[in-house]
Amino acid sequence: MIDSRYRPTGCGERLRQAQVVVVRRLTAAWVGYEERDAGHGRDDGWLEDKVYYRAMLRDYSLQPTEVPVHAPAFLPDARRTELKADIKRLLVERDAVLVAHYYVDGDIQDLADETGGCVADSLEMARFGRDHPASTLIVAGVRFMGETAKILSPEKRVFMPTLKAECSLDLGCPPEDFKAFCDANPDRTVVVYANTSVAVKALADWVVTSSVGLKIVEHLAGKGEKILWAPDKHLGHYIRAKTGADMLLWSGACVVHEEFKFKALTDIKRVYPDAGVLVHPESPAAVIDIADRVGSTSQIIQAAQELPNDTFIVATDRGIFHKLRKSAPGKRFIEAPTAGDGAMCRSCAHCPWMAMNELEALLATLENTDNEILIEPQIGARAMVPLQRMLAFP
Ligand code: SF4
Repeated sequence: MIDSRYRPTGCGERLRQAQVVVVRRLTAAWVGYEERDAGHGRDDGWLEDKVYYRAMLRDYSLQPTEVPVHAPAFLPDARRTELKADIKRLLVERDAVLVAHYYVDGDIQDLADETGGCVADSLEMARFGRDHPASTLIVAGVRFMGETAKILSPEKRVFMPTLKAECSLDLGCPPEDFKAFCDANPDRTVVVYANTSVAVKALADWVVTSSVGLKIVEHLAGKGEKILWAPDKHLGHYIRAKTGADMLLWSGACVVHEEFKFKALTDIKRVYPDAGVLVHPESPAAVIDIADRVGSTSQIIQAAQELPNDTFIVATDRGIFHKLRKSAPGKRFIEAPTAGDGAMCRSCAHCPWMAMNELEALLATLENTDNEILIEPQIGARAMVPLQRMLAFP
């Protein structure tokens, strides 16, 4: 219900009542149709609570001007071959293994495959890095992935091709603001997406990835727990709609997936009526609603192999196409349309931070042993608890 700060007392009562009405109306409009949908017509103050909480919480989505533009260097074939040979040699010399995400450069994915490393989603990257005997992990992805590897393997040295590779979800969840949100809702189980900083993970009860988020929330809701979810509002909305869980959502978004557009997708579906539509759940609800399969990067790759369609329209970062073509040869993959009005991730469906993982940067990291991920041990130990809960989840 509405906080006592908004309850009228004494003089000025009518003015304060009017303020409450305005706040409620404005925030109800802001909350939008998805809150009302998710409420399933309940009339028990549920929406009022959500409206109140949202009134206290600003939108943490990044503005286009806050997102870097990154154009990877063009390398002639001979130079790429030379770089790859040097990287392979140094991986052996440094007792290092390469752990890469599906969204990074195809050459780096191939290198990981060819040298006994792994190419995977963030859940499998975490597992692989923890279990591999190498003393050094080279993580090609974005910073939270390097941090996760370090949290789980504090005894190993973890390096990344660049420490500038951020994530809009991580940036859109400042630990101080998030702590205040948690403190204001002490009755809720705190579930955070892996795309967060070590400091945010340290505040959580559970960490989840898009592979297991739905199952874990379902499990918690089954025990009657109310959830505080951060930071991706689209993934949170998707999980809430699927599970019916009582979830209070932080308001962050992925700058890549948020750009997929419902109308443009239905237009392209008319051109390829037999194509299957594969969608990552960080995408907006309207795009998710017309998917044939919704899932994490690994689940999208699996769907492309399993479903009978010859053609797929894929709504996730286009870095995944490298693995899709290798995993389902002979099938055709089409990029789902985005906003299309810019010359960066808004129009190319490629994460600018993932694009910073380049061969030359990877070689320089191995040569100079710089760009090391360092985590304060106490906070790392606290963040390890919710991460291990996820990894132990059946
Ligand atoms: S694609 Fe989106 S969620 Fe993934 S790292 Fe880039 S900004 Fe973050």
